[in-house]
Amino acid sequence: MRAARYYGPQDVRVEEVEPQSLGPNQVRVEVAACGICGSDLHEYAAGPITIPDSPHPVTGESLPITIGHEFAGTVTEGGDGAEVSTGTEVAVNPIVWCGDCRYCAEGNYHLCASGGFVGLSGGGGGFAENVVVSADQVVPLPEAVPVEVAALAEPFTVGVHAVERSGLGLGDSVAVFGSGPIGLAVVQAAAATGADPVYVSEPNPHRRELAEECGADEVLDPTATDPVEYLTERTDGGVDVTFEVAGVEPSLNQALTSTRSGGTTTIVSLFEEAVSIEPIHLVTAERTVVGTAAFHGGPRSAEEFGVTLEKFASGAFDPEPLITSRIDLGDVVDEGFERLLDEESDAVKVLVEP
Ligand SMILES: [Zn+2]
Ligand SMILES: [Zn+2]
Repeated sequence: MRAARYYGPQDVRVEEVEPQSLGPNQVRVEVAACGICGSDLHEYAAGPITIPDSPHPVTGESLPITIGHEFAGTVTEGGDGAEVSTGTEVAVNPIVWCGDCRYCAEGNYHLCASGGFVGLSGGGGGFAENVVVSADQVVPLPEAVPVEVAALAEPFTVGVHAVERSGLGLGDSVAVFGSGPIGLAVVQAAAATGADPVYVSEPNPHRRELAEECGADEVLDPTATDPVEYLTERTDGGVDVTFEVAGVEPSLNQALTSTRSGGTTTIVSLFEEAVSIEPIHLVTAERTVVGTAAFHGGPRSAEEFGVTLEKFASGAFDPEPLITSRIDLGDVVDEGFERLLDEESDAVKVLVEP
């Protein structure tokens, strides 16, 4: 079968590979669509970052590995003990876990000491015709959710978990710094949780438009308006909850200092390098900072993915505005990675349909 495999920076090859073998309690998922994620781009541009160059403790695999972790498809085969019927359309929770460490024992599989992701840590990936995963990782789709769109369940569940971590309450004001795919998912998750108003700060005009489409009440261009001054003024001293989803030093500091005293900043970005903050802003104003990049996984795979899929079905979440193109697996480098890295392009979420 065809699969896109990561060999190193700027070196992703679509090639013929042997399909994975199917073990007990595993299912084979024929991939309908797989989104290209910001973390895939980091790996492509400057990796390997999380992709293992020595055998991964859980999957045992190292470079080259099949990539792609935001995917959905149809179960075509089940191993012994796998209680999922063939033909079931599913979203896949990509968390990889060991089952032995203290975090797995607590049920926090996403914090597993040797964990990872299908499509980044070995164990196959969604940029392939099919993938073998644990039956625990597949979440059946509600009838109203098209299988290709369900590929976006993964990034939206990052948003659901981030809102949960932030402690956001009904009627809280929110500011989201950065409206790429995860920022847009956070905007929708915050709005669906009852945040009001939701502000977005984003320098890219196309992404500001998308933020409005996704339910932001007001969007700011931080290159034209000082977001800290503006938000502090508009919210009587600071926003209740801010989200940092841009991954750069200025937006982190803006997120921290536009939060009200006693408020919370949730960092959802993977920063490429160390950045500087002034802890005095946290100390004197008793602000809280929390971090998150994933969601519950393992035997808890369906908990937050289920929330996301229900909201796709009810229309409370609308993933469509994020999807800017659908491409064939053979075009994943030129029409996918290279286009997303081109600063002139308006691409947001590219879906690869193997
Ligand atoms: Zn991702
Ligand atoms: Zn573990």
